[in-house]
Amino acid sequence: MVLTIEVKLGTLKLGIRNMDKEKERIRWRESKRKQRQNPLVVQKEKEYKSKNTEKQKVYSRESARRNMPKVVQRTKEFRESNPEKYKAWIEAGKKIKLEGLCQRCKKNRATDRHHPDYSKPLEVELLCKPCHKKADKERIENDR
Ligand SMILES: [Zn+2]
Repeated sequence: MVLTIEVKLGTLKLGIRNMDKEKERIRWRESKRKQRQNPLVVQKEKEYKSKNTEKQKVYSRESARRNMPKVVQRTKEFRESNPEKYKAWIEAGKKIKLEGLCQRCKKNRATDRHHPDYSKPLEVELLCKPCHKKADKERIENDR
């Protein structure tokens, strides 16, 4: 009896601690975001990065390696919850060559395949990154 109560208290404490961690993370992210809106901070960051390229490279390589399992896991989860999207991407990636200019702005090189409709995997628009962002936004708005 005493033991179960202690165990319960333990998990409760752990839960609270995790909640605090999550709050902390959100707060940290928020402050980072605010910092980035300050041109001075952005400038400093740029200077730091340009002076520490070698360090940066090592760091990003290491963090990529560290995050690999997470990335793989997220990809897997995404694939499982969005099988249609995933299939459309693979299909289009195999069969539709990226070439020429973006079909919307006709200025930048096309680097992305945009699916207006995932149920038609081979109907894609070849777009540049900025236009693709816009196109995705439009689709989200149309879905609503
Ligand atoms: Zn474009």
